[in-house]
Amino acid sequence: MDDVIIVGAGIGGLTLALTLHRAGIACRVYEAADAIRPVGVGVNLLPHAVRVLSDLGLRDALARVAVTTQEAVFFNRFGQLIYREALGRFAGFDWPQFSIHRGDLQAVLLDAFKVRVGADRLHLGWRCVGADQDADGVSVRFCRAGDDGDLPAQRGAALIACDGIHSVIRKQFYPGEGDPVYSGYNMWRGVTRWPPFLSGASMVRAGWLATGKMVIYPIRDAIDADGRQLVNWVVEIETPHYKRRDWNRPGRLDDFIGAVADWHFDWLDVPAFLRASDVVLEFPMIDQDPLPRWSFDRITVLGDAAHPMVPRGSNGAGQAILDAQVLADMLVAHTDPVRALLDYEAQRREVTSNIVLTNRKNPPDAILREVFLRTGDKPFERIEDVIAREELVALSDGYKRVSGSSKEALAGSGRP
Ligand SMILES: Cc1cc2nc3c(=O)[nH]c(=O)nc-3n(C[C@H](O)[C@H](O)[C@H](O)COP(=O)(O)OP(=O)(O)OC[C@H]3O[C@@H](n4cnc5c(N)ncnc54)[C@H](O)[C@@H]3O)c2cc1C
Repeated sequence: MDDVIIVGAGIGGLTLALTLHRAGIACRVYEAADAIRPVGVGVNLLPHAVRVLSDLGLRDALARVAVTTQEAVFFNRFGQLIYREALGRFAGFDWPQFSIHRGDLQAVLLDAFKVRVGADRLHLGWRCVGADQDADGVSVRFCRAGDDGDLPAQRGAALIACDGIHSVIRKQFYPGEGDPVYSGYNMWRGVTRWPPFLSGASMVRAGWLATGKMVIYPIRDAIDADGRQLVNWVVEIETPHYKRRDWNRPGRLDDFIGAVADWHFDWLDVPAFLRASDVVLEFPMIDQDPLPRWSFDRITVLGDAAHPMVPRGSNGAGQAILDAQVLADMLVAHTDPVRALLDYEAQRREVTSNIVLTNRKNPPDAILREVFLRTGDKPFERIEDVIAREELVALSDGYKRVSGSSKEALAGSGRP
């Protein structure tokens, strides 16, 4: 088979390149950015995604740079504990959950790519502008990123568009798709260097979107002589308007800190913690309706290009990683790439569409919504009087089933 052409050296594109290389399928990666920089803040890798990366031999490299997450904890905005559950290895999974800086995750993938696939197979500064195909292969068109000068079209056996939320290949197949769907919630995010809190590896969700919700978790351990961690934080608030999606858009503390001004918990002084942040970014919680079709003969989409989702269930990066695994398996199973891409879509489109839709309505933080509604946003005496533990467990387990991250799903086929 000719080389498979991968557009985008993000999390999905690099994972795909590594899985293809392991399977003996040659590929080349084309990335618009002129350098891979450690941009972004934190992401979580659930055990289902860590399994794929462990199969690629990357588990130790990830463990060295990530925090091995121990537990999820949910609080109301008064700091009262609602629910606590163990995660990853601490919950008896065979694979850990990692909380990690997106830049560190990408660096682990990139280092492995350079050693295994070869640095000469990554082309930086190549912005894909479209693709054509015929019975024998694909022809992918590029411009030089920055000055828009033409670059030579690249031939390959298939094109896998891993070009993220603004995918040009998705647009090529769906030119009239229209604007993304806005959830009504804006998100501010950043990282703060801070002493360990709670277990030192806790993923905290607190408050609720109507008045202000936070997600807080450490992503790097022992970053200085004082033993501080790099801690990722996200503030989400109901907001009528949003600005275009841009992962790097700077945000302003004053636009949201009022919502959490009185969050002084015994384990964290939230306003002080936010004021100490190294960076503040702004991103709207938007997604796109699931697509009716991904694969068009020798061209398909993967990761955010295929299923952009609101980041509410730690599945954005993970599902791109699972896509990559399945697609590589299908390209091994079928000598005909057209058939492989169809089978990949058959295994992944419906599953990920369900996650996109569930993230809109019932991600794990539905636990917070239930308590917010049932208490009328007031402190409670005893959580058992508000909601039964079984109900909380059911909300959490329901999401795990949809996203394929339950123990049962992982114990199954050996594949997502
Ligand atoms: C700069 C950046 C920062 C991010 N920060 C966070 C974060 O803090 N938290 C979080 O949860 N998620 C973040 N994400 C998104 C997260 O990486 C994805 O949701 C998830 O990992 C799915 O990965 P993906 O490979 O589908 O997309 P991405 O990881 O977004 O990768 C897409 C890649 O395609 C490249 N690309 C785009 N258009 C073209 C083109 N026309 N031609 C060639 N290459 C192209 C992009 O530069 C990027 O490298 C960020 C993404 C980016 C690009």
